Amino acid sequence: MRCAIFGCNSDNESKNFQGDIKFHTFPRKADIVTAWKIACRRKDNFNIKNAYICNKHFSENDYVRNLKHELLGYKPKNWRGLKEDAIPTLNLPGRVENPDNNNDRKQREELRIKRKNQLELIAHILTENDEQNRTNTEHDDRDNIIKAQQEKIAQLERERKAIEGIFTTAQLKKIIHPDVRPRWTIEDVSKAIILHSAGPRAYRLLLKKNLPFPAVSTLRKWLSKIKIVPGILSSIFDIIKRKEMNVRDKICILSFDEMKLRKEYTFDKADDEILSAFSYAQVVMLRGLHSKWKQPIFFGYDCKLTKSILFEIIEYVQRSGFDVVGVVSDLGGGNRSLHNELEVNENKTWFINPSNKEKIFVFADVPHLIKLIRNNFVDHGFIFNGKQIGKKIVERLTDETNKSDVSITYKISKEDLNCKDARRQKVKLATKLFSHTISCALTRCGMNGKMDGTNWQECADFFKQVND
Ligand SMILES: [Zn+2]
Repeated sequence: MRCAIFGCNSDNESKNFQGDIKFHTFPRKADIVTAWKIACRRKDNFNIKNAYICNKHFSENDYVRNLKHELLGYKPKNWRGLKEDAIPTLNLPGRVENPDNNNDRKQREELRIKRKNQLELIAHILTENDEQNRTNTEHDDRDNIIKAQQEKIAQLERERKAIEGIFTTAQLKKIIHPDVRPRWTIEDVSKAIILHSAGPRAYRLLLKKNLPFPAVSTLRKWLSKIKIVPGILSSIFDIIKRKEMNVRDKICILSFDEMKLRKEYTFDKADDEILSAFSYAQVVMLRGLHSKWKQPIFFGYDCKLTKSILFEIIEYVQRSGFDVVGVVSDLGGGNRSLHNELEVNENKTWFINPSNKEKIFVFADVPHLIKLIRNNFVDHGFIFNGKQIGKKIVERLTDETNKSDVSITYKISKEDLNCKDARRQKVKLATKLFSHTISCALTRCGMNGKMDGTNWQECADFFKQVND
């Protein structure tokens, strides 16, 4: 091998080769290689892979010190020992510096520095742009995140409002902390009692589904605290007042009736007192005129409902936000004397509401009325439009219609017609008799001549009128 540097005659294959000359292969680092190539001062394109530079061109500083070798005075033959960035600087051709050359070098150096600066500048601008872009995207990202968060907050707010409309504070607490026993307010319990009364099974099912309602035992505890004493049931008003109703639903009817009681002494466990025996209880119910609800609001033992008691009840009801427009009762002796007190008769079927001076209309209990009509119809018959009508006509009708397989009078039977005792109290049987169906059946059979000899026409008209 021979030295690649121009003008160097180190060559281990020549005759005058001195053995202590070392040859170094070209390094790997690109910039160092370039420096080595320049040092060679070669004009031809030589392959650096099989080129060498001898040790004449390197200074002592270019070599790595190996203390072990130095101490042992040992130099291995192929010990390279050059530092990574060692560049040949000694015994180079054209080392004699002339000003032109120097100038040229200076120019080149200036150019190099200029280029380097340019490159640095470009690199700097590029990275700055990059950073700018990054911060821009960061800004955008942040804006988007904030926007998304704000939307989420708005959505949650809407959800919270919607939920608040349905659940009370205690219920919400129960939802958030299912294991903590919430403090139910009278509001919660009243609502729950109404819900429970609407359907105890459904209520228990809701509880099972972990819906936030007071336990049934809680309701019982509250209910047991409510004292039911004769008079106006004010605690019940506390509950029904909370029931959400519109004005229309609060228009109501008072109905009262006597409930027969067994004449015996009873023991009230909750109040620990003995109730004396009474023959009947007077119960006043409040019921919706337009919507279906009813609630007992007053009861008393062995007491006749007088005008003063009735007015007291009405005033209480009005104060609770309800509007009484009618009173319904049967025409028992006690109630007839009440009607006299109110100066209610066939010609004046109303009295003045003590609270708002509006008319309150008085009705006889309609189911009761129908029962009475039926009983009279069956027992004695009526004179209707000057003709005698009675159960014989209906019996004839059922006889006629039962001849065919499909009876058009399926609604009634002879047994129903001649019912006795307790069955006479069943309103359903009475309404079945005085129905549109039976009226039509009478007319049809009469037209077909099957009812000849009876006052079927009048009977059908009578039934129709009662039904309507
Ligand atoms: Zn050389």
